[in-house]
Amino acid sequence: MDELKHECGIAALYHFDPSLPSAIWGDVRDPKSKELLGPDEIHTLMPRMLVDLQNRGQLAAGLTSWKPSRDQLLDTYKEIGLVSEAFRTNEKDKYDKIMKECAGRAVIGHVRYATSGPTTRAYAQPFERKHGCKWKWFAFGFNGNLANLEDLKADIRSLNDYHLTKDNDTEAMMHLISIALSGPDRPDLVEVFRKLAIKFDGSYNIVFLNAMGDMVVLRDPLGLRPVCWAVDGGVFGAASESVALQNLGFKNIVSLQPGEMIHVRQGAYTVHRFAESKGTSHCFFEWIYFANVASTLDNRSVYLSRTKLGRELARQELELDSIPDLHNNDVIICPVPDTAKAAADGMSYALRVPLLEGLMRNRYVGRTFIEAAKRDDKVRLKFTPLREVLEGKRVILVEDSIVRSTTLANLLVMIKEIGKAKEVHVRVACPPIVAPCFYGIDMSTVTQLFAPKHMRGDVPTREEQARMAEKLGATSLAYLPIEAIARCIEMPAEKLCRACITGEYPTEHGEKLYQLMLKKSGTEGGNARAYGRRRSLVGEPRA
Ligand code: SF4
Repeated sequence: MDELKHECGIAALYHFDPSLPSAIWGDVRDPKSKELLGPDEIHTLMPRMLVDLQNRGQLAAGLTSWKPSRDQLLDTYKEIGLVSEAFRTNEKDKYDKIMKECAGRAVIGHVRYATSGPTTRAYAQPFERKHGCKWKWFAFGFNGNLANLEDLKADIRSLNDYHLTKDNDTEAMMHLISIALSGPDRPDLVEVFRKLAIKFDGSYNIVFLNAMGDMVVLRDPLGLRPVCWAVDGGVFGAASESVALQNLGFKNIVSLQPGEMIHVRQGAYTVHRFAESKGTSHCFFEWIYFANVASTLDNRSVYLSRTKLGRELARQELELDSIPDLHNNDVIICPVPDTAKAAADGMSYALRVPLLEGLMRNRYVGRTFIEAAKRDDKVRLKFTPLREVLEGKRVILVEDSIVRSTTLANLLVMIKEIGKAKEVHVRVACPPIVAPCFYGIDMSTVTQLFAPKHMRGDVPTREEQARMAEKLGATSLAYLPIEAIARCIEMPAEKLCRACITGEYPTEHGEKLYQLMLKKSGTEGGNARAYGRRRSLVGEPRA
């Protein structure tokens, strides 16, 4: 759903051995001189990678490069905006100037969406911490969210004369890395991150680069967020999603295992285990909504997982038998663009009900500050209902998830009033979202969620779903059951994080934060009963 935003995306490239031929780099030439570009030009591929990760953050983009022949061994460039805005990709002279300044044979990149902190450049990543000692001078980018941030901040403030200037986990993480690097002797980076892993609770995928030319790419021990990597000849690449590597021409792309890190330096790369992984907890939402549909994460295709969700919706529809004369000519399936498209494909194919695009998304609106006179004008800016498709139809509207429901409610008004649809049956390719996320997705409070306000038990009854439909202005509404998620991703449920649909958190501090919120919503007289019921799930084996 359009309401939900991801925390960030990370990427890394290293031309670690120019003597090895590389298919992806072999024939990259300077557009002016037509000369083959040398190893210190690998950074020119980074903006392209970040464009492929743009779905993970649209507020800011940046990179840090390492060039051993430059006084500024590390140099960071970052700006507010989409990748195209930050790197001025539409203004050739400005883009060329930025690329010239950012040259390097090792580069880390970042796209940002903020769940906390302002949207200023100061919060854009990578964060760089300069130091006169080359192995203490580093930059890093981070994707995720630390659930124990408040404890970490308190620890930092308890140190002599330490002070924090920002309300985010990146600054705290920067200080903790600096502290781990302190002392007279150059520490082993595996040990550095091993010690940090003991402190961190939550999701944290990191790309790190120091002024010695050491690069580290790591994935947290639960593997909450994805990281993929590949090597082509003498070029190493890593990114939050496979699509960013695939589009550069990398083959044999694999997922970094939870608790593993790759250390790349000039001439070599090595894979290490920096933290014990007692079990994985991959965020199921990556497959349902967040990830680029062209990506493959932990060996599971995002597109195929979404089409399977659609097939589950079809199976459920036949069981429910709630839409009379389903195969009449007036019934169509219509996806909410773009993320529900694959699920709608799967549902249409399985049900043999035609899929028509009755809603068009404005692909060019991007980030906008254009003022809307009314709330639903913002939705109108992004979506246009096609009356030619919708008029007089009974529409099965496939949506990927419902979080706060504001966009969906406005879409339903448009489909009925402008599209003149006869009926709109909402089918959600996800179970109800009943609990917040503390691991990097922008839904961190319980009161903002739609479903819990209407549910008394763990599973929404038909009556409750009917009430939700009424509240939204739909003819009917049906969610997928929780068990469908593991089936569609083809991964055992115990290997997935499903905290936002079960209330069971995979980390100690995630659980603590949830308990605090339950207490708060109870004392404030909010939705205490609705949230309190989730407790019955805690402690039981997962489905
Ligand atoms: S709580 Fe939900 S959105 Fe957050 S990591 Fe877990 S599954 Fe993903």
